[in-house]
Amino acid sequence: MAKAKDFAVRKQLLDRRSRLEQALEEVSDDTQVQHLIEEVDAALERVANGTYGVCESCRGGIDSDRLIADPLVRFCLDCLTPEQQRALQEDLDLANQIQTALLPEKSLQADGWEAAYHYEGAGPVSGDYCDLLIADGDLYFIVGDVSGKGVAASMLMAHLHATFRALVSLDLPLDQIVERASRTFCESTLPTHFATLVCGKAGDTGGVDVCNAGHNPPLLVQGSKMVNIEATGLPLGMFCEERFSVSQVRMNPGDTILLYTDGLSEAVNGSGREYGTKRLCEIVRQNCLLAPKEVISACLKDVNAFLSGTPRTDDLTIMAIRRLDHGD
Ligand SMILES: [Zn+2]
Repeated sequence: MAKAKDFAVRKQLLDRRSRLEQALEEVSDDTQVQHLIEEVDAALERVANGTYGVCESCRGGIDSDRLIADPLVRFCLDCLTPEQQRALQEDLDLANQIQTALLPEKSLQADGWEAAYHYEGAGPVSGDYCDLLIADGDLYFIVGDVSGKGVAASMLMAHLHATFRALVSLDLPLDQIVERASRTFCESTLPTHFATLVCGKAGDTGGVDVCNAGHNPPLLVQGSKMVNIEATGLPLGMFCEERFSVSQVRMNPGDTILLYTDGLSEAVNGSGREYGTKRLCEIVRQNCLLAPKEVISACLKDVNAFLSGTPRTDDLTIMAIRRLDHGD
């Protein structure tokens, strides 16, 4: 495993080096490019002698997240100077702004459907993917969770966002959209990266297609009945040739579907207990007649009461979609 990782890092560094060499020929002032090449060479040397990912100051390990985001990192967070820490904070603030701009409108009403969501990273950026878009009169809704956390996961989230936005516009069947997204994701990420995800498509007659790629089952509330839409495939990006299948459900006016990431169901309180899907189902059942925004608020209120101040350690996304009455 360590060997495979070294190989991947080495390949990434060599790619970067050849791109820099190319840049060297194109720029007039090449001191900065020259400096970067030296840094890449130093990193390659660290891979060769087994000290890659080791902090040069305290000899402790450097977060793998930070290494993925910047393979040239040489110091752990504790060993950064105040100036370096400030620069890092500015980078993260900017990343947070960029990610926020990728999110869909806070709530949306279209063709007999009403949707809302809550999106909250454990840190400045999140590895959850949350999207709502309308194409050809259909409402597409997506909630996903990229493996890992922090900056690296947020980069993959942005990747999924771009992929799905491009694919949805092609008017493909849902299983094809997810299949192509999975292939693209698999081909352009490290073998250890994958994403669980639910992608749904709601039409104006109440028919809803749902593809669940290894994600927590969405809850479909129909009156007093509650149905879990179980996973029908593996997470995205595990294998390049994955196939996915689609579940079809019919939603009547007043029915609600709730999607969430494990930052909700697996939130752990101060005594080490997990929030759990049972409690979640109960709170959704009690509030299912409310508008999507209010169902989400009720879930948040309940999980926060459960946590009673214990900080969240995982990214959190909740989305609710309701079929409207004709009179709504
Ligand atoms: Zn250190």
